[in-house]
Amino acid sequence: MEPDHFERKYHLALERMEREEASFRQLEEQLRRIASRLLLLARGRDDALDGLLERVTDAVRRSSAGAGLAPLVDELGDAVARLDGTPRPASSTGPAIGPPWPEALRETLLRVVLIPSLAEEAVDIRARLAATAVDDEAAMPMLAEAVANLVNRQRDSLRADIDNLQALLEQVSGRLEEMTHFLEMGMKEQSQDLAEGEALDTTVRDEMALLNQTARDATSLADLQEQVSSRLTLIDHHFREYRERQDARAEEFRARSASMQGRLMELETQALRLQESLAREHELALTDPLTAMPNRLAYERHVDEIHRRWQGERQHVCVAAFDIDHFKAINDNYGHAAGDAVLRIVGKALTAHAAGRYFIARYGGEEFAAVFDDMEQGEALLVAEDLCRIVAALGFHASKRPITVTMSGGITCFQMPDTPAAAFERADRALYEAKRAGRNRCVVV
Ligand code: GH3
Ligand code: MG
Ligand code: MG
Repeated sequence: MEPDHFERKYHLALERMEREEASFRQLEEQLRRIASRLLLLARGRDDALDGLLERVTDAVRRSSAGAGLAPLVDELGDAVARLDGTPRPASSTGPAIGPPWPEALRETLLRVVLIPSLAEEAVDIRARLAATAVDDEAAMPMLAEAVANLVNRQRDSLRADIDNLQALLEQVSGRLEEMTHFLEMGMKEQSQDLAEGEALDTTVRDEMALLNQTARDATSLADLQEQVSSRLTLIDHHFREYRERQDARAEEFRARSASMQGRLMELETQALRLQESLAREHELALTDPLTAMPNRLAYERHVDEIHRRWQGERQHVCVAAFDIDHFKAINDNYGHAAGDAVLRIVGKALTAHAAGRYFIARYGGEEFAAVFDDMEQGEALLVAEDLCRIVAALGFHASKRPITVTMSGGITCFQMPDTPAAAFERADRALYEAKRAGRNRCVVV
């Protein structure tokens, strides 16, 4: 936007009009001089003429700013006083004082016809002047008064124009300031929408250019006022449209953001559920459903991890394989369900004994596998024997008859270059030894 240029334009117009006003003040001065001279020439000739001269004096007074007229009135009084003591010319053909009347008035009139509404009247007075004889001193006061009135009205009209122009300038400046503020606010709020802002800027620049053009081309103040006003309304309209679009966009953005937030929360819940479900799946994949103990997969993962650490630290690690003795007979004698119950109860007892101190899993069927981390062979053997004793002491019954359930175990410790599988195989061989040695016992290799 170029408010500076716009304001400069108006200030120039104001200056021009003020210059014109000064020029009219000069005209007024000239008229006052004409009136003085008219008084000198005509006063006392007859009563009617004196009356007319009084009216001219009044008219001059009305057109004056006030204070400036007082000396003139005094001057007129002095002149009249002097006239009383001075022999007057015998006739109208006597010596004239200054240029002839019609010329002075015509010259004044030429400078009056700036306002179209007064032009017709000025032309009329000029015609009357042309038709009046140079020595027609009786007609002169009337014409002089008419010219004085015209100049007076011209000056009033000019003053009104200046006031209007000033009001218009204030209005334009105010509106431009408001719009600039409006635009700045809009830009601040919607700074991300640069393309839209640039488009508006271009539109406003174009409108401002047209506004300046309008100011240059206007033929009258009223025309200028009207055009400037409609241009401003148009610019205002652009701003409002822009603001409405931005508001709509912000609203849409808020709605979208709220919906996205909802969707995000939904996704978060889903992700959490999925995570929980995966954790459950993971746990299930590593848990034996019958005994709720870790299963073979869990054992393998655990032993791999311990083995990796053992390779670095070389701490004592033993593994054990356990197998329920003559389990097939339990199934055969008391049914599969009874066999399951035995597995559940044995598993529970083994888990309770481990209590986090070592790792024990259902390896498969009626077999169990343990990992004794940071435990020497002797200690591991003692734990294994404890386990076998616990199982033997569980005291099963079927049809009110006691059933003996025992377990055998084979124990071994990691030795270089053991793999977890190699160590387990050795433990299994020790288990076989225990079986062969009569069961319900543990063998270490
Ligand atoms: P040993 O003392 O030599 O180990 O003899 P055993 O009878 O325990 O060994 P065997 O391998 O001959 O029999 C194991 C039986 O365990 C065979 C199989 O049907 C049974 N079994 C394996 N898994 C389950 C199970 O989950 N539930 C039940 N009830 N029986 C099972
Ligand atoms: Mg077996
Ligand atoms: Mg068995």
